[in-house]
Formats: sequence, structure tokens, C-alpha cells
Amino acid sequence: MRAAVLQEIGQDKLEVLDDVEAVGFGPGRVRVRIRATGLCHSDLSAMGGVLPQPAPFVPGHEGAGEILEVGEGVTRVKPGDRVVVCWLPACGACPACRRGQTELCLAGFMNAGTPNFRRPGGDLFGFAGTGTFAEQVVVDAGCAVPIPDDVPFDIAALIGCGVTTGLGAALNTADVEAGSSVAVIGCGGVGISAIQGARLKGAAEIVAVDPVLSRREAALRFGATKAVSPDELAGAKQLVTGGEGFDYVFEVVGRSATARTAYENTRRGGTLVVVGAGAMDDFLQLNMFELFFDEKRILPSMYGGGDVLRSYERTIALWRAGRIDLEGLITHRVPLAGINEALDQMRTGTALRTCIEI
Ligand SMILES: [Zn+2]
Ligand SMILES: [Zn+2]
Repeated sequence: MRAAVLQEIGQDKLEVLDDVEAVGFGPGRVRVRIRATGLCHSDLSAMGGVLPQPAPFVPGHEGAGEILEVGEGVTRVKPGDRVVVCWLPACGACPACRRGQTELCLAGFMNAGTPNFRRPGGDLFGFAGTGTFAEQVVVDAGCAVPIPDDVPFDIAALIGCGVTTGLGAALNTADVEAGSSVAVIGCGGVGISAIQGARLKGAAEIVAVDPVLSRREAALRFGATKAVSPDELAGAKQLVTGGEGFDYVFEVVGRSATARTAYENTRRGGTLVVVGAGAMDDFLQLNMFELFFDEKRILPSMYGGGDVLRSYERTIALWRAGRIDLEGLITHRVPLAGINEALDQMRTGTALRTCIEI
């Protein structure tokens, strides 16, 4: 079968190969025919070595498709079922799961050192244990979450990562208060989802911050009340908050420099929500005086910061009711053979989400 492969960390192009095999099928596992997958910024971060990932590997962790076969003991799904691929499955038994914080379950990472694919040249890993830039993946049954028939594969794929992450940051982690002021730094698919979440919660002002004009324009369509470039943020802060700072600032980039900017633009006693996935050697500096004196709450948000399956269900309900726009997030579509085009669209910031149809 075909899959897009990164041979070495640091390379910027994927090779679409047709001699790849998904391995690891057996008890408790399922084989999924991927139909649609989104390109998430974390795929680029893994390719570039910002996020830890062994190579060679098949990127992609935001996918949806149909079950082809199920291993022994799998009862929750059957062949033909439509599923979203969840890269962070909950084991249901560990302390984090028992507390309801399934986004912190580490069970899904237990297989991180096990190859997910094979080709004549050797073994390949799948990004985040999945690797959805492939016609088929074999994953734990818990990674294949059934979706209702009315949810198209392209929409389901987005729910698999970007939308869950951004929406959850606003709804679960920040729990944005009605009437508040919000700034969102970084307005790709995840940032736009945070904007939609803040709008749902009744934020009065939502300022979108992004260097790319097309993303700023998109942010206004999705509920931002203002959209500014990074060097216009100080002016927007003055205008919207009288210089005090925003009640909530969402950092959706994953760099210490933007996190520091976000911290400085949060009002005293306000909330900085860290959504971006950054590197282990990129350190955020805060001095001990400001940390206690300004009483700003720093809330990291991992994969939406809440029960993952509950977040999927909620997103589907909101989408079905027309309360959030997911179709509009898909600005580009390419076949798997066009994957490098999709990477360029992500790098230049012209795409909110590119849907790769497989
Ligand atoms: Zn668990
Ligand atoms: Zn992602």
C-alpha cells in the first residue's frame, strides 16, 4: 500500500512509496483504511526534530476512515465501521483516566518504540503511534473511535486533533467567562478552533494575532472581533483592555518567544493558556517576582485538556447544530501524491487545514 515517508529527521520533503505494509495486527488491534487526514503543525514539528519522534516514519495523526478488520477480543468496532483515529487513547484504568483526565493517559505511548510499518528497506515508525499519511494503519482498538454516519471523513479527521485541541483549550482548560477579553496568538486550524470556542463561551472581544493576512481574514470570519499582526498587538491591547491586558491569552504557536508575549499581554490575575506544542530545549523565562506579584494563571492545555472522547462527542454535537464551522477550516485539498504541496501550504501559512484525501 501507499504511504508518505520521512526518511530522516530534518528533511523537508516526504516520499510517497507504494511498498509499505502496516504491521502489528493481532489481539486488541484493528486495521483502518484511512480515507481523509489533516496536516497538523505537529507533523511538521516532528519532521523538523522539534517534537521527539524516531525515523524513518510516516507522519500524520489526524485521520479518519473505515475499519477493515478487527483482532481477537475487539468488540467495540467491526469491519465497515467509520472511525476517527485518536492518537491519545485512554486506557481507562490508570490514575489519570480514573480522575477523568484521559488526555494525560500515557498508555498510548507505551508502543512508541515499536515500528508501525514495514517496507523492503526496513521498519518505519508512525507519528504518535499512528501515521495516517498512509492507506492503512494498524492501531489499538482504543485508537479507533466510532463516529456517526452523518460525519464526513474530512470533518472527522479534523476532530482527531486540531479542532479538539483548540476548542478544548477554550471550553475545558480556560473555561472562558462570558463578556471577557481574549487574544489568540497563532491562527492556523488550532487557533481558529480556540477562537470558535471563545465565541461559544460568550467572550466579548476576541483579538486574533497572526503575521499572515489570509489567516487574520479567516479569524474574523470565525468569530474574532479584531485581527492584528504581532506588531499591532500592543495597540490592540491598549484599545480593547485600556492597557491592562487580556483576561485570557491563548498561545497557539509553541515557542517560548510567543509564550512570553502571551504572558505579557495577559492581565494581572488573568489566564495564559499554552496550547502550542514546543521543543524540550526551548525555555520560557519568568522572574520570581512577576510570577507571584501578577498572579497570572498559566494553564497548559494538552489535546483539549479534558476527556478526549467526551470532547469528540461535544464537537460533533456543536457542528451538527451549526454552532461551529468545521467545513470552513478546510481551505485546501490534495491527494496523497500532493502531500509535499500540503507541507508548503502549512509552512507559508496559506492553509488553515489541508485535507489529504487517501
Ligand atoms: Zn489511562
Ligand atoms: Zn495535531
